[in-house]
Amino acid sequence: MQPADAQTSPNPNATISSLTELLGASGVLADPADKAPYLREWRDLFIGEAVAVARPSNAQEVCSILRYAHETGTPIVPQGGNTGLVGGQTPDASGRAIILSLARMNAIREIDPTGNTITVDAGAVLERVQNAAAEVERLYPLALGAQGSCTIGGNIATNAGGTGVLAYGNTRDLVLGLEVALPDGRLWKGLSSLRKDNTGYDLKNLFIGSEGTLGIVTAATLKLFPRPKGMLTAFLGLESPQQALAVFSRLQGLAGSGLTGFEIMPLEGLAFVLRHQPGARDPLETQYPWYVLAEISSGRSEEDAQALMMDGLEAALDAGEIVDAAIAQSLEQSNEFWAIRHGMSEVQKAEGASIKHDVSVPVAKVPAFLDEAIAAVLDMVPGCRPVPFGHLGDGNIHFNVSQPVEMERQAFLDLWEPMNDRVHAIVTAMDGSISAEHGIGQLKRDLLPGVKDPVALALMQTLKQAIDPKGIMNPGKVLALP
Ligand code: FAD
Ligand code: ZN
Repeated sequence: MQPADAQTSPNPNATISSLTELLGASGVLADPADKAPYLREWRDLFIGEAVAVARPSNAQEVCSILRYAHETGTPIVPQGGNTGLVGGQTPDASGRAIILSLARMNAIREIDPTGNTITVDAGAVLERVQNAAAEVERLYPLALGAQGSCTIGGNIATNAGGTGVLAYGNTRDLVLGLEVALPDGRLWKGLSSLRKDNTGYDLKNLFIGSEGTLGIVTAATLKLFPRPKGMLTAFLGLESPQQALAVFSRLQGLAGSGLTGFEIMPLEGLAFVLRHQPGARDPLETQYPWYVLAEISSGRSEEDAQALMMDGLEAALDAGEIVDAAIAQSLEQSNEFWAIRHGMSEVQKAEGASIKHDVSVPVAKVPAFLDEAIAAVLDMVPGCRPVPFGHLGDGNIHFNVSQPVEMERQAFLDLWEPMNDRVHAIVTAMDGSISAEHGIGQLKRDLLPGVKDPVALALMQTLKQAIDPKGIMNPGKVLALP
């Protein structure tokens, strides 16, 4: 693969004036103050530089930018809502890249409640898409903490997971068709609402999860689902992750795909939320080492959802699988329970530095993983505060570790790599993944060769070379520069 070559890149002023010709002045940000919010991600872990931020308003403009970049060897960094957690949307420090922001391309193009599909521009914010579906009594089931600002294009590029995966699958399972601008400026018009289409290779799946390294998603046709008629949320107090696994198995056995949420949280995580999230309240009167947020949905009625939840929880109490439970009595209370879960990442910022792991293991191994990993990090940094939480039902734990209260921030962050090594070794020994849902980006790029099958890695390189021979698409993300 040819790296985008510094020697052949035009000077910054030439790039800015070419972009202005293509997009008009309102489509280009070149002033440092205007560019600033696009150059860093929300945790300040990655900060880069860019010649300009291009803000196209339609797919043809995206193609024209790519044609320019292809001809001049200029790196392109796609960006949606800038909520990614692995530095995929942040340029490097060279200042040569164009950030291509999809933010202005946010139309809901078409919604079909009968066919259960919605077609949207890539820059549409997830929450808007959820709301548009709700207006026609349908559900777009992707749900995550950043839903108020992340975009459909970013969700697709990272194959986002979130809390609805248990019942509805990852973003990959929700995409029917894609429109993609290719690195040479061609537009692949793959928008399709067909549920069945066996006409050759499934190209859309190449772009889903490719983190902007193969092309720019400009629009997508997504699956919708009937809106559940009843939904009930419970907040459970438990002694151990082993108990959580037992309740999970019980509730899923009862409700099947009606179990639409099952999230585990530790006491330390709840304590952080209560300390730092305005309006947060503990749903239970007593403290427990672990908590679970369980949600059951019914296509029939509120009463049905309630009956399933009550049957399950009564049996779980009798079997000693849970110690305590609060059942949401209103939508407002249910939202309060979910706000505790969704606030879990944000509040960790207020407790100093945090070392993160986004890992998955086979579901039945989650308790053993938690035991081993918690012991390992406490052994490594006595006094550190593990806050492992997340999607127990998918085997995906956000194994975050907050710094000891008295420790110096940077001294703790210096342990990022050795701590990752230790936790990832436990994950790998359990046949798990070191990146369950956030992707590889810059953060885990150099870890990939250590965990990926070498044949798979070679095939990825071959595909990258074939689709992006000049290496302009998000260079240095996912795969190392050649
Ligand atoms: P960005 O951050 O802008 O970009 C992410 C990646 O996608 C980059 O590599 C970028 O180059 C590429 N990209 C963006 N748009 C396009 C496009 N149109 N075409 C091609 N490439 C593109 N993620 C989960 O999976 N599950 C969670 O539960 C979850 N919870 C989160 C909670 C919080 C509080 C935060 C801040 C993040 C969370 N995330 C989660 C991570 C993040 O929100 C998701 O990865 C989201 O899908 C990223 O969307 P975005 O529009 O912000 O993309
Ligand atoms: Zn998550």
